[in-house]
Amino acid sequence: MSESVVLHVRGRVLVGPEDVRDELWVIDGRISYDRPAGVRDIRAVEGWALPGLVDAHCHVGLDAHGAVPEDVAEKQALTDRDAGTLLVRDAGSPSDTRWIDGREDLPKIIRAGRHIARTRRYIRGYAWEIEPEDLLAHVAREARRGDGWVKLVGDWIDRDLGDLAACWPREAVEAAIAEAHRLGARVTAHCFAEDSLRDLVESGIDCVEHATGLTEDLIPLFASRGVAIVPTLVNIATFPRLADGGAVRFPRWAAHMRRLYERRYDTVRNAYDAGVPVYVGTDAGGALPHGLAAAEAAELVTAGIPPVAALSATTWAARSWLGRPGLQEGAAADLVVYEEDPRADIRVLAAPRRVVLNGRVVA
Ligand SMILES: [Zn+2]
Repeated sequence: MSESVVLHVRGRVLVGPEDVRDELWVIDGRISYDRPAGVRDIRAVEGWALPGLVDAHCHVGLDAHGAVPEDVAEKQALTDRDAGTLLVRDAGSPSDTRWIDGREDLPKIIRAGRHIARTRRYIRGYAWEIEPEDLLAHVAREARRGDGWVKLVGDWIDRDLGDLAACWPREAVEAAIAEAHRLGARVTAHCFAEDSLRDLVESGIDCVEHATGLTEDLIPLFASRGVAIVPTLVNIATFPRLADGGAVRFPRWAAHMRRLYERRYDTVRNAYDAGVPVYVGTDAGGALPHGLAAAEAAELVTAGIPPVAALSATTWAARSWLGRPGLQEGAAADLVVYEEDPRADIRVLAAPRRVVLNGRVVA
């Protein structure tokens, strides 16, 4: 489709959860609320329009074994796109996916550089594996390479201990997070366990991924400091299988993973109820397939988060948190159109009628 075609999106345009309009136009790839004059070639799209979905924890260019070739990364990005995910926060990737920025037909990506992990304390082939004395230098480098985020691995199995354990001494993360902030980057960390969380939050971390270890005494700390969580419940669903696989060698770890799994919905709902910002993230690209943002939003509702809040966690609130526009006048026309009101039933998200990216109907 050429840029000269004007799209007329009509029905219900959900600019915000309460800000609903009847129509918008897409002119030269941008959103307008003024009917264009003297244009003949107008294509109509009807339904309930939302800003393009956000997957705030996704990995493009990565699979279960590490970096993948460009054609595989492209397929991953297309799968997300066709499911309505038009903005991705890439939570760590060993491959250089900058070429995607030049592709108008692929989702927009906010990168966190490459994961930074403790030596032999993460999935092989994913991370820079380093010791604490090198943390500050690596964080500074990834802060410069990324798009405003840095990703740490905050805890992982300690094979000598046979259980999850924190990866970094307090002083090292304090200095590293301060350095990231000085360079204008936010910091997030992969954390499954309980005991890694307090040091990271008190050191000024901005977000925690998974956060299955959140407990009653830690939740108020997250809430008072405004530290967001991205629970990735579709990924936490794999914990029992992981536990089964490691139960013989690491029984304590396996039991711990099962406990975290069993209380996952309570953890997420208690955090939400206390005012902790919660966002949709799928963890696609490691072991999970792409295109699961709708499934994760549905999981947040299962956990007890109100449907409109779960919707906002992948649309309005998520975009605002990441500093990207939604359906504002003049913004790039990245939107998804549904047959029914997704506020009334979160399952509507799973079946987009039309996906519009940079003003083009792409799916
Ligand atoms: Zn991840």
